[in-house]
Amino acid sequence: MNIFYAVLTLGVLGGAFGLILSLASKVFEVKPDPKPAVQPDDPEPVKDASPEPDTQETNQTVSKVFTWPAQGAVLRDYSLEVLSRDPTMGDWRTHSGLDIAALEGVNVLSISAGTVEQIYEDALMGTTIVVDHGGGLQSWYSNLAPETAVQVGDSVDIGGVLGTVGGSAIAESGESPHVHLETVLNGQPVDPRDYLK
Ligand SMILES: [Zn+2]
Repeated sequence: MNIFYAVLTLGVLGGAFGLILSLASKVFEVKPDPKPAVQPDDPEPVKDASPEPDTQETNQTVSKVFTWPAQGAVLRDYSLEVLSRDPTMGDWRTHSGLDIAALEGVNVLSISAGTVEQIYEDALMGTTIVVDHGGGLQSWYSNLAPETAVQVGDSVDIGGVLGTVGGSAIAESGESPHVHLETVLNGQPVDPRDYLK
């Protein structure tokens, strides 16, 4: 008999303990409610952080001021849709930049503020400097002297000296001394005269 009561008591106690546990878990379940109240506070720093990249992009595209890379007559215009006569090859072909007459040794200037992205020797266009102006716009300067005034990663101002005119472009060796300037927007060549007024 005693064992029966003992088992019964244990059963009652166990049931009561289980009830307490379930009640306790309900109490704990209530706690997550204040958390959603906290969560709306969390996205706020994210909102604060998101305008920063926008501002940076805006700053990068601010450079809307341009200057010619050298003072001189245009020997050959940008012409991608209409073939123009190539004085070096003696035939008619497209020309993806502007050839601006300038004597060898004359400074070649950055057409706008930017960062030097590449300096390399092109097999046809010779010593070439690429400046990134932000907003997807780059300027390419070819037929330069091998000794440049800047290094990759340098910041340049509008009119900043990049290097000097050389005679390194084999593909344009039939022309008078000049700098070959290309403007590239989002990877596509565009007419430099859209920027140089
Ligand atoms: Zn050219």
